[in-house]
Amino acid sequence: MPGRVLVFDPIVTNRIMLKAQLSIDFFDVTLAADVSELRKYVRLGKPDVILVSYQADRAADFETVKWLKSTDATAYIPVVFLQVSEDASVWDQSHDMMVEDVLNYGAAKWLMTARLNLLIRAKERIDALLAQHRTIADMGFAEQSLTFPPAPSRRTRVDVSLATGSFDDVFIARLNSVLGRDFPNLRMHSGGGPTRNQNGADLYIIDPSSVGSDVAFAKMIELRRREGGRTPSVVFVTPQQQQTLTQRALEFSASDFVDPNASVTELASRIRRILWHYDMSHHAEEAISKHLQSALRDPLTGLYNRRYAEQHLGRLIGDQSEPKSTVTAMVIDLDRFKSINDTFGHLTGDSVIRQAAQRLKNNLRSADLVARLGGEEFLVVLKNASDTRVRDIAERLRSEIAKRAFLTECGQSIHVSASIGVSATKTTWASSKEIIDCADVALYRAKDAGRDRVNFSEKAA
Ligand code: GH3
Ligand code: MG
Ligand code: MG
Repeated sequence: MPGRVLVFDPIVTNRIMLKAQLSIDFFDVTLAADVSELRKYVRLGKPDVILVSYQADRAADFETVKWLKSTDATAYIPVVFLQVSEDASVWDQSHDMMVEDVLNYGAAKWLMTARLNLLIRAKERIDALLAQHRTIADMGFAEQSLTFPPAPSRRTRVDVSLATGSFDDVFIARLNSVLGRDFPNLRMHSGGGPTRNQNGADLYIIDPSSVGSDVAFAKMIELRRREGGRTPSVVFVTPQQQQTLTQRALEFSASDFVDPNASVTELASRIRRILWHYDMSHHAEEAISKHLQSALRDPLTGLYNRRYAEQHLGRLIGDQSEPKSTVTAMVIDLDRFKSINDTFGHLTGDSVIRQAAQRLKNNLRSADLVARLGGEEFLVVLKNASDTRVRDIAERLRSEIAKRAFLTECGQSIHVSASIGVSATKTTWASSKEIIDCADVALYRAKDAGRDRVNFSEKAA
C-alpha cells in the first residue's frame, strides 16, 4: 500500500542505504544506477515517485528529469531531488524543472516517509481519475487525452492571510510573481478579512504560529466541511523538526507542510504541485461527467438514449413496492416519416425529430422520462399514473404532434402525425424489454388501424 519508489542514484552506498531505510516502511523500492536503468524501470515498474540524486554538475541527470517531465505518460509522476546538504538554491533549479520536492539524504526517517506518502497519495488520486477517464475513452466516449500539467483555465485563489507571521509582504509579493508564471489568473489574498469570494480560496496557507494552533486546526476542519464546490487545499507552516505538529496537520488532511524559513521558490513549488493536482482532478472529473452524459444522451435531441431508458425503466419496475404502483411505457413513432425524408431531405427530417422531441418534453413533467429509442421513435415512461391520466397524456402527446404543423428552415410547413402504443405493468418481475415489446405490439395495431392514434396493449406485461 505505501507505494513504488524508484531511486536513481549513481552512488552504490546511497542506493543501498535508501533501499534499507524505505523498505522498513514497506515502500516497494527499485534501484537504478544509470539513465538506461532508470528509463527501463520507469517503463516496467510504473513508479509512484522517483528519487533522483541532485548534483549541480550532472547535466545528464537534469536532461533525464526534463525528459520525464515532458513525456505524457510520466509527467505527473512526482520527482524528488535528493541532496547531501541543506541548500535552498536547489529549489530554484527544481522549480524550473517541475520537480515536486527536495529531501536530504540525512533527513529524519519520519520526515522522508511523510513527504513520500503525501506525493504518492496525491498521485493515486490522479491515477484513479485517469483510469476512469481511460475506461470512458475505451468505450469510445472521450475524445481527448488529459495532459499534465493541466492548462491554466480558471481563476486560482491562494489565501496567505493566516500565515503573515512567517511570510511578510515582500515575500508574498515575490511568491505571487513566481506563481504568476504558471497561473496567469492567480489571485493572492493576504489580509484584510476573509477572502471576498463566496467559495473562498483554492488553497490556504495556515501558520499556527501566526494564529494559534487551535484556530489553525479549527480552520482546517471548517474547510473540509465546506459545502458547495471543491474542498480547498491547505499548506501547513511548521518547523521541520516538529514531528508531532506536522503529523497532526497531515491527519487533518493538509496537502503539504513547509518550514517558516522556506525560500520563495520552495513554497511556490509546493503550491504549484497542489494546484496542478487540483486542476488536473477538476479537468478529469469534468471530462468524466461530460462523457458519461454523452454516453447516456442522444446527440440529435438531447434526450436520454435507449441504453439509459432501458436501465431506468428496469429499475422503476423492480422498485415497485406499493400494491398500487404501476409503471407505464409509451412507444411513440412518427407516421410515414420516410416520406418526409424523401420529400424534404434528411436534414429537414432531423429537424422534425428535434421539434417532435421538444413537443413531447414540453408536455410532460420533469419526473417523467422521455427518451429517443432510435430513428423517429420515442419512449415515454410514467410512474404511478392512473388509467385516466395515462389516457389523457397519450392523447395530449398525439395531438401535440398532429395539431400544429412543423416548420422547415425555409419556412415550409409539414404536417406530421404520430402513433402511440401503451403498455403498463404492476409486477416487479417484468423486464424493460417485455414492457417495451408489449407497447410496440400496441403501436403496430395503431399503425394498422390507420395511424395518428393511441392503442393500449391488451396484454399486461
Ligand atoms: P410508419 O408510419 O409505418 O412508421 O412509417 P415510417 O416511414 O415512419 O416508417 P419506417 O420505419 O419505414 O421509416 C422510418 C424512417 O426514418 C426511415 C429512416 O430513413 C428514417 N430515419 C431513421 N433515423 C433517422 C434520423 O436520425 N434522421 C432522419 N432524418 N431520418 C431517420
Ligand atoms: Mg415511423
Ligand atoms: Mg419507426
